[in-house]
Amino acid sequence: MATPLPPDGFADRPRLHIDLTALAANYTILQKASGKAQCAAVVKADAYGLGMDETVPVLLAAGCRHFFVAQLAEGVRLRHIISTCAESDKSFDASAIYVLSGLAANAENDYVTYRLHPCLISLAQIKNWQAHCRKAGNHPAALFLDTGFNRLGLSFDDIAEMSETNEIFEGWTLDLIASHLACADTPDHPMNRAQLEAFHTMTALLPPAPRSLANTGGIFLGDAYRLDMTRPGIGLYGGMAFPDDAAARQTVARLRAPILQTRRLSAGDAIGYGASFTADHEMRIGIVGLGYSDGLPRSFGQFNPPRVRLGLGDREAAILGRISMDSFAIDLTDADDSIGADSMVEIFGDTTPIDGLAEQGQTISYELLTQLGSRYKRIYKT
Ligand SMILES: *Cc1c(COP(=O)(O)O)cnc(C)c1O
Repeated sequence: MATPLPPDGFADRPRLHIDLTALAANYTILQKASGKAQCAAVVKADAYGLGMDETVPVLLAAGCRHFFVAQLAEGVRLRHIISTCAESDKSFDASAIYVLSGLAANAENDYVTYRLHPCLISLAQIKNWQAHCRKAGNHPAALFLDTGFNRLGLSFDDIAEMSETNEIFEGWTLDLIASHLACADTPDHPMNRAQLEAFHTMTALLPPAPRSLANTGGIFLGDAYRLDMTRPGIGLYGGMAFPDDAAARQTVARLRAPILQTRRLSAGDAIGYGASFTADHEMRIGIVGLGYSDGLPRSFGQFNPPRVRLGLGDREAAILGRISMDSFAIDLTDADDSIGADSMVEIFGDTTPIDGLAEQGQTISYELLTQLGSRYKRIYKT
């Protein structure tokens, strides 16, 4: 007989707590902050690492009916999730799914089958969609414009060329015109206003359709940026503080891992791979059971002197030496004696907000969330 699978909750396993009530609350805050605009949800990269299967039903129940993913396969999976949810509430079924990466070559039929709206990013893609719709029937799609980000999207010249004749819009339904801000998290950046103006100039040359420009940061740039639809991602998942204090964003993800062992070091003792940290006085350290294979960036252990600190009760504990695949060391010298083997350490959550941790390690909360590993015990709270 085969050896049975292990139970879920062995004590040496890191725990990722995901608060779905907080997710719903963040959606509601962002919908209110969006004013008259529809608030969509960006659920690409498996809902920023927190799980599309668990988060999408909650977003639907909170009233969300527009979703964005990056890739076609994500859209197909999302359509499956939404159609499953629609068995209990038929109104979910009409939800629109936009695929940001454009129209994948030779896959036109998949967008139709799974009712996905491609965000068309080139004249060639528009022509392909139009040709497909002429055979397969009229289907909706969005246009995605490049207003200065220089990533994906139709350029001003493309729009000018299209606007000479409206023939290119026949046979399919243009149901959204979108673009993306490069500097929305820096409210004073001149790029924001420049992109808004470019967006107005370009959309004026196109047939009328709902318009969308704002990601999470864009929602808080003011009413002018909210237009007809907003597209927050990170703000839903608790990865960005909202400037509006009246509507404080709620923490969604909390990551905790156990201390596996503590040790005492004398001056001159080194820690970990490369012996990159050497104690210059007596220290007590804890070895935490979570490493770079779980998504804690190895670069967090590169700073000398150490600079990434975790909250530990009312104290802080620095990460010492290099991050290993399955563990890392923290400084417990000043910590309460009661913190030792089997104590749980919060990597991020309440005492160490995820943005603060990311900033100390010179990255962003988006990266920490989307790199979250597969070894956690994931605990969803509703
Ligand atoms: C990822 C993404 C978003 C969401 O941005 P946040 O900063 O997470 O709110 C919105 N629009 C586009 C085009 C994106 O790629």
